[in-house]
Amino acid sequence: MQIDSKLIKVAAPDITEVEVDAVREVLLSGNYVSGPKVEEFETRFADWLGVDHAVAVNSGTAALHIALEAIGVKKNDEVVVPPITFFATVFSVLYLGARPVFADIDSADMCLAPSEVRKVITRRTKAILPVHLFGASAKMDEFTELSRKHKIPIVEDCAQAHGTEFDGAKVGGFGAAAAFSFFATKHMTTGEGGIITTNDPHIAEQCRTIRNHGLSGRDEHVRLGFNNRLTEIAAAIGLVQLAKLDRLNAKRIENSEYLRQNLHDLAWAVLPASKSNVKHTYFWCPISVDPAHRKTIDDLKAHLTKYGIGFRHRYKEPLYKQPVLKKMGLDYSKLRLPNAEQMAGRIIGLPNHPNLSRHELDKIIEVLKMF
Ligand SMILES: *Cc1c(COP(=O)(O)O)cnc(C)c1O
Repeated sequence: MQIDSKLIKVAAPDITEVEVDAVREVLLSGNYVSGPKVEEFETRFADWLGVDHAVAVNSGTAALHIALEAIGVKKNDEVVVPPITFFATVFSVLYLGARPVFADIDSADMCLAPSEVRKVITRRTKAILPVHLFGASAKMDEFTELSRKHKIPIVEDCAQAHGTEFDGAKVGGFGAAAAFSFFATKHMTTGEGGIITTNDPHIAEQCRTIRNHGLSGRDEHVRLGFNNRLTEIAAAIGLVQLAKLDRLNAKRIENSEYLRQNLHDLAWAVLPASKSNVKHTYFWCPISVDPAHRKTIDDLKAHLTKYGIGFRHRYKEPLYKQPVLKKMGLDYSKLRLPNAEQMAGRIIGLPNHPNLSRHELDKIIEVLKMF
């Protein structure tokens, strides 16, 4: 096979002249901060998701931090988190002086396992933070039940799951609040950005105050706040992106399913099973090498690199091994979560973004068949 020098990128934002025109309009208007575009974006996002309130902020990390702060997580509280996710999930807990308590994942969906969360709940547990990893969904029926029984709020991390559904309902409306990210590689982007969603008017109000210097009115600072506002420029991009999100997702899913159909009978390939009650939106198209096979994930990475095919390879260790935790005086040296330890580093994400051509998808398949 001919080695093509053109890299097939693992992710690429879908930006057209429509976004460019939207940005131009805002720039020329002279109105850049917290105006009509942000308000319209919040209303449209809440409508699209099917929740009452959305509060736009300048990153997914800020959305998580503010959501936890708004539901009242404080110093020395505990928040249950998964060990396999982007570390921002854990940082949002650390910012508040609370303690991240790691519970193991379910090997099938790679998300936080409700049965493992149950084991680590204490009197100090103030929130449970499931992450809908790679575009899958955590088991929200069990989490909802757990939350009701123990009276502990759920905050969903939906940064990788815009449009993912569990039992026919979009994730982001199951808990007390949820956080989405609009970072450049996510299902939709505003460059940098994020949004908090909730059905609780009090939580929404607190989030609005916290993101804007703790202000009530113009000059009264009623609580600790930050500057986490989304700009009008970013919101204008977001409005265009949101209008085509369902179409982009459909393409992302179609591409991922095409790859999966053509790869599932390769002897070395392990693909996570799809579930009938989950609409997976494939932030990643995950694949791993059967541990019984003589070749390894490093061999696969070298092979893809040789043929110019991009991939993702992250979360190589369970997050409780990250050095920052020890530096902050948190000791997880005795913690071993077997499913997380087993899965960490073993999965890569294949290119599956909406703008891949059939030719590029076929090339990915051909290269993987040669492995
Ligand atoms: C991207 C991401 C975040 C953080 O979002 P930013 O917008 O980059 O701050 C949080 N959690 C998960 C799971 C993510 O993938």
